[in-house]
Amino acid sequence: METTNITKTHVEVSPLESMLNNTDGMYGKFGGAHVPPVLAEPLARLAEAFDKEVRTKSFQQEFIHYLKTYVGRPSPLFYAKRLSQHIGSTIYLKREDLNHTGAHKINNSIGQILLAKRMGAKEIVAETGAGQQGVATATAAALMGIPCKVFMGAIDVERQALNVRRMRLLGAEVISTDLGTKTLKDAVDAALGYYIEHPDSYYLLGSQVGPHPYPRMVGYFQSVIGQEARAQILNAEGRLPQSVIACVGGGSNAIGLFSGFLGDVEVKIIGAEGGGKATFDNTAATLSVGKPAIFQGTYSFCLVDADGNPTESHSVAAGLDYPGVSPQHAYLMDTGRANYQPITDTEALEGYKLLSRLEGIIPAIESSHAVALAAKLLKGKGQLAVINLSGRGDKDLDREME
Ligand SMILES: *Cc1c(COP(=O)(O)O)cnc(C)c1O
Repeated sequence: METTNITKTHVEVSPLESMLNNTDGMYGKFGGAHVPPVLAEPLARLAEAFDKEVRTKSFQQEFIHYLKTYVGRPSPLFYAKRLSQHIGSTIYLKREDLNHTGAHKINNSIGQILLAKRMGAKEIVAETGAGQQGVATATAAALMGIPCKVFMGAIDVERQALNVRRMRLLGAEVISTDLGTKTLKDAVDAALGYYIEHPDSYYLLGSQVGPHPYPRMVGYFQSVIGQEARAQILNAEGRLPQSVIACVGGGSNAIGLFSGFLGDVEVKIIGAEGGGKATFDNTAATLSVGKPAIFQGTYSFCLVDADGNPTESHSVAAGLDYPGVSPQHAYLMDTGRANYQPITDTEALEGYKLLSRLEGIIPAIESSHAVALAAKLLKGKGQLAVINLSGRGDKDLDREME
């Protein structure tokens, strides 16, 4: 029987070769590198180094080695039986929350730090808002023995004291910035400023945003999620899911899962955005309510005001609270291959509690958006779906009280 063969499908730990096809960083009309000349040169060098290194056997072997023995890949695909019964559809969870450090970001941090070392970088530069990206970067930097500077707005340093302590314990230097609003946007400016002045540093971007080649690199390093999930669902069910669902902040965990199914036209691709407290002027739902614009180096969708200037975003989930989004997701939406829907803070908190109670899994509040959207869309539908559980939710315990 054919299913017997499928059951034996070997789950490979490897990213998707197909994610390397796009070499110019354009996703239809979206993407590109809209940067001042001082950045154009280092970014061109980065794009060239990525292309040269990433296909080499030694890079592949090293990357896969760390994904397996350090991150703990492949992450399991878990059949959520009680959640399935509750929703009335067959739901599997891709357990990125079980990765070392508790989320998907580490896949990308390790890939980029391996590249940085091959480029001869002397230190890693990163920015962080809530601290999740800072911790993932500091972790990979400690692993590879390379110095790491994490820029952070002064207000965030105060708000995220625990993650600041984590980063410092991991050996990173946390640099507080007093620029502007003293939050993420200003940390980006400070980190970029440092990077421009220090050509032997490597700027590590944590999501599928920013100028080319970052969206391409991040998409590639995260594609291991979808590559595994596709083999795992075929293994478990003998067929492809009817839909795959993930939360979208910048879009990296989502593209990781989605990339495995882009070629399967019968699989619906659905993203959950941070819908804020439920009004259009209080949201992080960049694709659902934003407009095409150039923001932080890329042409994609962006939350803008009436004059077309970028505005602030609002979400209960720090990881979804970003006014821009990946140009690849903009393209997937534009072409109709994927669709994106806002989930409000209240709905996300319900998803958070639901999964905790029904499966004994406390999901990140970001991932809870995907759980909540699945519960909404698949209620009583009897469909087969895979949800990306991008991270674990101990960090969000105080949100539950709100
Ligand atoms: C950072 C983060 C996100 C959002 O980032 P993407 O690039 O959109 O994946 C989602 N979930 C968790 C757990 C995160 O830490």
